Amino acid sequence: MKVLVAVKRVADANVKVRAKADGTDVDLNNVKMAINPFCEIAVEEAVRLKESGVAEEVVAVSIGDKSCQEQIRTSLALGADRGIQVETDANLQPLAIAKLLKAVIDRESPDLIILGKQSIDSDNNQTGQMLAALAGLAQGTFASEVVLEDGHARVTREVDGGLQTLNLKLPAVVTTDLRLNEPRYASLPNIMKAKKKPMDVLTPEELGVDVASKLTMVKVEPPAERSAGIIVESVEQLVDKLKNEAKVIS
Ligand code: AMP
Repeated sequence: MKVLVAVKRVADANVKVRAKADGTDVDLNNVKMAINPFCEIAVEEAVRLKESGVAEEVVAVSIGDKSCQEQIRTSLALGADRGIQVETDANLQPLAIAKLLKAVIDRESPDLIILGKQSIDSDNNQTGQMLAALAGLAQGTFASEVVLEDGHARVTREVDGGLQTLNLKLPAVVTTDLRLNEPRYASLPNIMKAKKKPMDVLTPEELGVDVASKLTMVKVEPPAERSAGIIVESVEQLVDKLKNEAKVIS
């Protein structure tokens, strides 16, 4: 069984991202970059499937400029066998990413495709769903447990009302939620070994995908600063303020 994992390069979760002074985009100069945390969970799940003997090969795919090779190398250090970079300088929307991933699926024929549920930079939560629709595959989004047996994936999903379990026929698309697993750290020997693992570079043209965006970014600006809160001394004072100052209770 082959597992394909999509990993996105994003600003590290601990970085406070700022808008550029001219408001054209976020400023990523000198910002620490990392694998999107949900994609790290996706890599971990794929590697665990390999370690348990269910999967034979794990392929990590990232779409972006040359710098995203760093996140592919990290995925290889975490246990993926092979990397694919789809090289583009364009700032792509989920539909273009899904079309490119679909083209990679057509070449690779994986049995399972694991994505993060969401990128923490653009918070789209769209790519996995679009990919499954374009590829005509079953989807199990927000997975907190994945069990593979008899050509099926039993996926437990975290939904608003609790947990939902789906039985998906493989090949299928799964997107990861936080509770699926706790990703490992890459060890130094594995980081060294990852440098020798194979990585192919493809282009959208080779994959026959038009990535022209239909969206225009109008402006990027930080949200309004919130004013500081106050600490009240008693419940009576709180009720008084809610009634007479905030006027939210009567
Ligand atoms: P999104 O729909 O943008 O919130 O992203 C959901 C998931 O799609 C991510 O966690 C990744 O698994 C995948 N994805 C999005 N953008 C990329 C990219 N540039 N390269 C590889 N995978 C991506």
